[in-house]
Parts: sequence; structure tokens; C-alpha cells
Amino acid sequence: MGTALDRAAARVIAGERIDRADALTLWNDADDELLSRLATGVRGRFHSANSATYVIMAIVNYTNVCVARCDYCAFYKFPGEAGTYVLSFEDLVKRIDVVAGLGGQLIGFNGGFHPDLSVEDYCRLFRQLHAHYGERLAFYEMTIAEFMFVAKRSHMSYADAAKRFYDSGTRWITGGGAEILDDAFRLRHSPGKYKVEDYYAAQSAVLEAGLGSTATMVIGFDESIDERLNHLERLRAFQDERTAAGRPGLSSLLVWTFKPYNTELGGQEVSTQQYLRHLALCRIYVDNITNLRASVLTRNEDALLGLRYGANDFDLPTEDEVTQKAGATVSLEFEAILDAARRLGFVPVKRGAWAIGGGTRVQDSSTAT
Ligand code: SF4
Repeated sequence: MGTALDRAAARVIAGERIDRADALTLWNDADDELLSRLATGVRGRFHSANSATYVIMAIVNYTNVCVARCDYCAFYKFPGEAGTYVLSFEDLVKRIDVVAGLGGQLIGFNGGFHPDLSVEDYCRLFRQLHAHYGERLAFYEMTIAEFMFVAKRSHMSYADAAKRFYDSGTRWITGGGAEILDDAFRLRHSPGKYKVEDYYAAQSAVLEAGLGSTATMVIGFDESIDERLNHLERLRAFQDERTAAGRPGLSSLLVWTFKPYNTELGGQEVSTQQYLRHLALCRIYVDNITNLRASVLTRNEDALLGLRYGANDFDLPTEDEVTQKAGATVSLEFEAILDAARRLGFVPVKRGAWAIGGGTRVQDSSTAT
């Protein structure tokens, strides 16, 4: 019969789904080479062996005002503190034009939980930006965490708020702000943000409104392996529920690592080895999300190693104040980063936004660079 590790590995190789106990066994007992091999096998169900896609993008932070007080955040300022800002439409256009000039195709907006902004304020801004840029750029208008907050502040149901965003031209609200989706973790570090079931209620409303969304995860706080597995288990079940109901699901899973510098929580960054092992576990366990994204923003060139641990996509960021304030460094030497992927045997291809609610790509450049 072999060991529990043998059985878990055999299930993956046979194309079967593993359960939570198998996932824990793989995490505890599999060596790096085995995790890489198994994750590469699962990746191969969706993507050709040497393929890799990337997107040049920026996370533009339109306000740093936030009332959530997460202890892992180096970015926010409480209302009334010195140094708060809200960017105007004109400020945003200046920032976005710089990103476009660097070859950027995707702008993700991210801000704090600003107590004075309403759904209508955001819709007005997004309408202006869509009118200004047309189809030239894709936008991830906000994270699901911000969406939940602004819907509540506007006394709107998630369904009504999602429809309002859709009608104003928004097409994407990402799964950002997820960190670790476990209520005990959330209570320790960001009790004012949301509960896990609320997060998925909002995700459902966003997807049902015809918007696209994604999954995200950040590791390296003080979370236990159980808390990480709670995140992955619920995420996989959510995607299953969507598929079983014949409804669109989440397009990708992006895995970041916590940057502890200048935060109240502090601590050490997780090692690249831990990150790669976790990426592999995500690919193997969450076998129903097509696209697994490695984070150059938080791991720099080391993120490319993730292509050998199940990832098929990565970002080339030009800015993100939130992570940069906590210690992330951004390089605009894109060719050097792409060369790192090539040296690993991959052919990086520039892409646009993912298809709404699915896993295929709609704006791929045909140019392998
Ligand atoms: S992580 Fe987001 S929600 Fe939490 S304090 Fe920072 S800006 Fe606010």
C-alpha cells in the first residue's frame, strides 16, 4: 500500500483529486522535487509545458484613508491623520499614463476603506476613466474587500452594488484583500474587515452580476498550516459550487507573500523555498482554477521559479504603494526578469486581461518576447 505520501502522490499522478489530509501530507513530507513534479503535472492539464504568460500592470492606490486598521498594513492612514490623500481623476490619469508609457495593459485600483466615499462616487470615477481610455487599457476597478466596505457604507446589497458597478462599465473586481481566509486569522489581524462567509457572498454577487473576479492569497504572517488549508479548502469548494451550478467562477489564483517592514505585525519574510512549496500545494490542491499566478511584486525574480512549481502566469508591476511601503521593490528592467523565465526553459508571452469568469485568455499578444 505504501506510505501516506506515496498514496497522495499516486492520486495526483493518476489525475485524481486529493483531499485535505493528502494536502497536509504533501506539505509535511514531500520534498521540493516531488512537489515541483506533481504541480507541473497538474499544470499540464491546463497549459503546455513551456508556456508562461505575463502582464505589465500597476496597482494604483487612489486613497490611503482607511478605517480597517489591519496590523499587517504599512500603507493606511486613519481619517484626519497627516499625509492622507484621495487622488482626483486628473491625478489618476497622470499616474496611469506613466504606466501605459511603460507598456502597461492592466491597471488595478486599490485603496483603503474610506468612510466618505460611496458606490456612486466610485462609479462616477470609473465611468470617467473608461470614457478617457476606451479599450486601450483593462481595469481591475477595486478589490472585493473594498467592494464589501463601500456597498455597506452605501446601504446597498452586494447584488445591487455589483449591478451598479456593472452598469457603470466596470468589468472586474478582483479577489484582493483576502490574505488568509480564515476567521480566526482575521480576528487576530483585521477584525474590522469582514468574515469569510461574507467574502464569498460578495464574490458570488460580483460574479452573478457578470463581473469577473479572481482569487488571491497572501502567506507569511503568523498563520498556521491549518489556516492556510482552510483558505484553500473553502476556495476549492466555492469554485466547485460555481461550476456545479453552471455559473462562471474565478479566473485565477494569485499568491503573494507578506512584506513585514514598517507594519505593526512585523516579523520575517517567508523564504523563497516556502513560497514555492506553497505555490505547488495551491496548484495540486486547488485543481479547479486554471491560472495560478506567481508574484514578481513580492518575490522579484525568484517568483519565476514558481513556473516550475505550478504557476503559469506572472505580473510585471510598475508600482504598488501598499507593498512598496512594506518593503517590496519594483524593477522596470522587464527584459532581465523575462530572461530569468527563459533561462528556466519557458517562453513568456505578453497577455491582456483574462476572459471574464473563465480561464482562457482574450487579449493575448501573439508575440513571444
Ligand atoms: S490592508 Fe487594506 S483594509 Fe487593511 S488597513 Fe491596509 S488599506 Fe485598510
